[in-house]
Amino acid sequence: ELTEKLESTFARLRGKGTLTEADIKEGLREVRRVLLEADVNFQLTREFLERVEGAAVGVAQLRGVNPAQQLVKIVYDELTKMLGERREGLKLSTIPPSVVMMVGLQGSGKTTTAGKLARKLKAEGRQVRLVAADVYRPAAIDQLETVGQQIGVPVYANRTTNDVVRIAREGIEEAKRGRDRLVIVDTAGRLQIDADMMAELKRLKEAVRPDEILFVADGMTGQEAVRIAQGFDEALGVTGVVLTKMDGDARGGAALSIYGVTKKPIKFIGVGEKLDALEDFHPDRMAGRILQQGDVLTLVEKAQSAFDEEEAKRLEKKVRKDGMDLNDFLVAMKQMQKLGPMKDLLKLLPGVNASMLKQANLDPKRMKHVEAIVLSMTNAERTRPELMNGSRRLRVAKGSGRPVQEVNRLLEQFREMQKMMKKMTQGGGGGGGRMPQL
Ligand code: GDP
Ligand code: MG
Repeated sequence: ELTEKLESTFARLRGKGTLTEADIKEGLREVRRVLLEADVNFQLTREFLERVEGAAVGVAQLRGVNPAQQLVKIVYDELTKMLGERREGLKLSTIPPSVVMMVGLQGSGKTTTAGKLARKLKAEGRQVRLVAADVYRPAAIDQLETVGQQIGVPVYANRTTNDVVRIAREGIEEAKRGRDRLVIVDTAGRLQIDADMMAELKRLKEAVRPDEILFVADGMTGQEAVRIAQGFDEALGVTGVVLTKMDGDARGGAALSIYGVTKKPIKFIGVGEKLDALEDFHPDRMAGRILQQGDVLTLVEKAQSAFDEEEAKRLEKKVRKDGMDLNDFLVAMKQMQKLGPMKDLLKLLPGVNASMLKQANLDPKRMKHVEAIVLSMTNAERTRPELMNGSRRLRVAKGSGRPVQEVNRLLEQFREMQKMMKKMTQGGGGGGGRMPQL
């Protein structure tokens, strides 16, 4: 009912809300939908929600907190944890040259990312060399050389041999002679994990003893990327992950799942084809991004600004002191109307039940009529609604262009709300027995 909604509005604004377990479950259902839509692994989603629920139930016992905000905070913190908690950069050895080996399926973005990384590290003042250890497609070496030219980084290649271990060793020797600080080895990927490829990568690993083995995954491939990451990690012991193509409509869930499953930190994300389109990966920012996808954060923020807290507090204070009149009624109705178009977000707020959701369809046209009726009254009538006898009602109906039955209904609603407010404001802050839990 309408009055129920007002009750909960005020209860919330007074900060007397507590979360019940059922409320949390309802709020988390939305979070669950968001995660699955973002392509997060099902099992991970379940574990995640269990943890959030555990934490939220703890919060439920606290009083005087804003439950909706608390819930969002918990979800955000848990998401961040699941993404790796904090940023992890490259771990390079102190004795140069450090070696970074790029691995991943064909087309995942290894060569491009090798170039992006080289560019970034060069910009940080390191002397970098790229090594072309993908010898199966002739174009692969050309591609890396083109990249090297674009960013002004030397590329070691040897077109006379197919022995990638030899090429990598030669590349590192060259780097030592050139006093390079860092060598990035680009390798060949296949369309899927196969034994020959893994065997070759293992030999390469033994030969060059990389400081970092970066698994490069196409962020668009979603759940599949998780399985592939596991395959590479089991065979090679990956030290970090780069997610590419995160500029498209990649949904980020793949990222969440990769860390959740392999516990290998995501170090960078690729956000475009150009060589400057590489970003450090920050778990907290990605958590925000995933939440934004379901607009969970935005919705809660909107809800909070729609409840104009200042105005509501002023209103409550006045009502507590002088009782409620039709001016207050109008203010309260307007507050609720602001929530009307946001029934999606109401679902997210703990304590919002199904009957309240039905009420959230506050027709804006109806709000206009309410306003017209109240504004057609004299100020005396608004502050003392008991003056509204039959002839005054007829006058107001005429003035507002609404049928007199509607004027009657509004006055009826007002009386109900007035009764409810009286109850709520009695007994100082206790809120009365009917105040719903938040
Ligand atoms: P490799 O086979 O693993 O070496 O993959 P490549 O580096 O050749 O990249 C394959 C394709 O993906 C190329 O067309 C790249 O331009 C593209 N690519 C790589 N990284 C990104 C990225 O972060 N965003 C976008 N949009 N495209 C990318
Ligand atoms: Mg390549």
